[in-house]
Amino acid sequence: MFDSFIQLVREIYHTEEFIPLHEPRFVGNEKQYLLDVVDSTYVSSVGPYVDQFEAKIAEYCGVKRAVATVNGTAALHMALLLAGVKPGEQVITQAVSFVATANAITYCGAEPVFVDVECNRLGLSPLALGEFLAEFAEFRDGAVWNKLNGKRIAACLPMHTFGHPCDIEAILQICDLYQLPVIEDAAEALGSTWHGKHCGSFGLLGALSFNGNKIITTGGGGMILTNDEKLAQQAKHLTTTAKIAHPWQFIHDQLGFNYRLPNLNAALGLAQLEQLPAFLENKRALAQRYINWARQKHVEILVEPFGAHSNYWLNALLFKDKVECDLFLGASNHNGIMTRPLWELLCNLPMYKHCQTDGLQNSHAVVARLVNIPSSVVQ
Ligand SMILES: *Cc1c(COP(=O)(O)O)cnc(C)c1O
Repeated sequence: MFDSFIQLVREIYHTEEFIPLHEPRFVGNEKQYLLDVVDSTYVSSVGPYVDQFEAKIAEYCGVKRAVATVNGTAALHMALLLAGVKPGEQVITQAVSFVATANAITYCGAEPVFVDVECNRLGLSPLALGEFLAEFAEFRDGAVWNKLNGKRIAACLPMHTFGHPCDIEAILQICDLYQLPVIEDAAEALGSTWHGKHCGSFGLLGALSFNGNKIITTGGGGMILTNDEKLAQQAKHLTTTAKIAHPWQFIHDQLGFNYRLPNLNAALGLAQLEQLPAFLENKRALAQRYINWARQKHVEILVEPFGAHSNYWLNALLFKDKVECDLFLGASNHNGIMTRPLWELLCNLPMYKHCQTDGLQNSHAVVARLVNIPSSVVQ
């Protein structure tokens, strides 16, 4: 089974050299737009490409406004601040995620609470969320309080894992009952939809990432998505040092952040976005090849949930146990094919060890069995 996998991946990427997990592809207008930026001298934090990139992403994702940021983590940090997350409060999220999800909560002075994921799509489980809130949440004075420690539960931050939409509508329904704002970590989900609507456009705010390993890249970059015009204005203000527009004076009316996306990066992003439809088709065909192989070999593989259209950013195999999983990781990496286990559960990291969890039954089960396999766009 291992040999046939190695053979398949070498056949797909037709190379005998090292095959990475996910590498960027620049086959469009990247060089042209970058040269244009250099010639214009507007390489830094203002320029026409930033505005264009924001407008095109907003249109593509079906939201009223998109605000560019220096990376996805900064977008998450801003989204949480704008949703009203304050020091000493708690935010419900999942332990199955990249560390940035929890870090963004910590940057607000708040702490994450880790609730379980659904095993078939690895997004926050509405069932687990409902049970957690039923047990610990107390609704009082228009806010949700944790009966365990008296802290305010300020928001819910689900993540669309590997580009597979979580059950966001069910999550929203539950959070609406408690008047909890939902912020979507859609860093991995550009191009993914749930019931025809784009990931990151359901909640009060959403965050995208354009890091080098994501489906399109700006080198580094991120985007805040929202349908709330006022929040968008605040997002722009806060991410641009909270400077009041004035012909010459430097007045900043609150503690702002320098979270701007440079024009140089936005130019790259615009060229990449033009290729997104082709990338999506390419990745869907790639996923189908992996799915066919996995069915033949009786290996479990993550597929898009019914009702979703996933971007298939990163494909994932699920082995029967940790032993088989480790053997596969060893064999593939030894043969120059990059494969990686799931992130360490966030609740196991030193800075999040003390955080409240709901037991995380599915999260623990999946972390021992999952391997991500090469998923770059095929040339
Ligand atoms: C990539 C990623 C981020 C952060 O994005 P950066 O642009 O690298 O800061 C956040 N959350 C998840 C789930 C991610 O995969």
